[in-house]
Amino acid sequence: MTCATHPATDQTASLAATIRTAADLCVKCGLCLPHCPTYGISADEAESPRGRIALMQALAENALPAAGRLEFHLDRCLSCRSCERVCPSKVEYGHLLEAGRALAAAKHPRPAHQRLPKLIASGAFVRAAPVLRFYQRSGLQYLLRRSGALKKMGLQRLDSLLPPLSRRLQLKDYYPPVGLQRGNIGLFTGCMGTALEQDALHAAIALLNRLGYGVHIPPQQTCCGAMHLQSGDADGAAALAERNIAAFNALSLDALTYCASGCGAALEEYARWFEHAENNAPTFRTAPLDLCSLLARIEWPENVKLRPLRARVLVHEPCSLRNVLRAAEAPYQLLRRIPELSIEALPGNARCCGGAGATLIQQSDLADALRADKIAALKTAINANGEAKTLLVTSNLGCALQLSAGIRAEGIDVEVIHPVTLLWRQLTN
Ligand code: SF4
Ligand code: SF4
Repeated sequence: MTCATHPATDQTASLAATIRTAADLCVKCGLCLPHCPTYGISADEAESPRGRIALMQALAENALPAAGRLEFHLDRCLSCRSCERVCPSKVEYGHLLEAGRALAAAKHPRPAHQRLPKLIASGAFVRAAPVLRFYQRSGLQYLLRRSGALKKMGLQRLDSLLPPLSRRLQLKDYYPPVGLQRGNIGLFTGCMGTALEQDALHAAIALLNRLGYGVHIPPQQTCCGAMHLQSGDADGAAALAERNIAAFNALSLDALTYCASGCGAALEEYARWFEHAENNAPTFRTAPLDLCSLLARIEWPENVKLRPLRARVLVHEPCSLRNVLRAAEAPYQLLRRIPELSIEALPGNARCCGGAGATLIQQSDLADALRADKIAALKTAINANGEAKTLLVTSNLGCALQLSAGIRAEGIDVEVIHPVTLLWRQLTN
C-alpha cells in the first residue's frame, strides 16, 4: 500500500523532509495569527499557525516527542486554512499539517484516535440510521435526555448533533435527464450523504436532470478520506481515494461534482495526496467541481425557471469552500437566479464555525465556542430583519450539522439548507 503523501519505504524520513521544505518558507512574520480561530480563542502561540509550524519543524528534527503537547496542538487545528489564505510567503499550511499529523501518527500511533473516521467510512453510521430514527421517533430520545442518562454515558454531544432523520435515501446508479441529453455528470455522495444530506442529493439529481444531464452515482464510491487524513491515517485516506478514483474513472463523464464542500476539498486535492507515489499516481480523468460552481457555469435552458421567493437568505461560507476550493462566490451567484430573494453574507464568515471534521466531536469546547459566535451573528441578523422569513444556507454537511445543532439548542426559527436545495424548491414544473 502506498502512503497518501509518501512512499511506504522510509516513510517518516520522507514526511520529515516534506515538513522541512514546506516550513522553511515560513518567515515567522505572524501575519496569519489574527486570522487563526484557535489562536483567537486561546491567545496561545502553540495554538497559532506559526506555533504549529514550529512544533512540526521540531517534530521533523526529532527535537520534540510526538506524544503530549505536540499532538494536542495539532489535534486542535481546525484545518480551516484561513492562515494559508493570508500568508504572504505562500506557506502551504494544509499540506504541511497533513504531513505533520501523519508523522506524529507514525511516531506515536493512536488507534483510538483513528476509530471515528474508520467507523464512519465503514458505513456504520448509515447502517445505524434506521435505528437512530426509531430512537428519535419512539420517544426514547426524549426519555434519555430527560433522565440525564445520555450525559452519564458521554453521548450528549453526539445526540445534540443528530438532526431529525428521515428514511435513508436509496439511490439508483443512474438518473436519466429530462428531455434532450446535454451530457453526463458523476455525483459523489460521501459516506454519510444518504443519511444526512438527502435533500441536497435529491435536489442535485433533480436539478441536473432538468438541465439536461444524466447523473451517475457509482455504488463503488466511498468516504472521501478527509477525516482519515485529519487523524494522521494517510494510508487509510489513500486507499479510499484510490477506490473513488477507480469508481468514477470507470464512467464516461462530462463533469464530476459533489454537494459537501468538505468532501470536495479532499477530492480536489487527491492529486497532491499522491504526489510522492512511486509510480502511476491515480488521478481523476474528470476533475471534480463543486455543485454550486458547476450549476453557475452551466447554461440554463430557457424553459427551466425558478419561482420568486420573498425571503432573506444568509449565506454561510464553509472554510473548505472559501480557503481550499476558493469558490465562496458560487452560492451567491446561483441564488441570484431566484427572483425577489434577498441574499446576504452571514457576518463573520471568515472564521470557522467549528464544524471541522472530527473537531465537531473530539474538540467539543472549541467547536462550541466557535459556534456561539455564529449563533450570535445569526440572532443579530434576525433581529435586524424584523418579521421576514430567514434561511441559512451552507454547502458543507459538517457545518450544517454544527449550525443546526446550535439553532435547535437556542430555539431559533431558521432553517439550514444547502443552496441547491433552495433552488430546487423554487423550480417550476
Ligand atoms: S505561515 Fe505565513 S503568515 Fe504565518 S508566520 Fe509563517 S510566513 Fe508568516
Ligand atoms: S488551519 Fe485554521 S486553525 Fe489551523 S492553524 Fe491555520 S488558521 Fe489556525
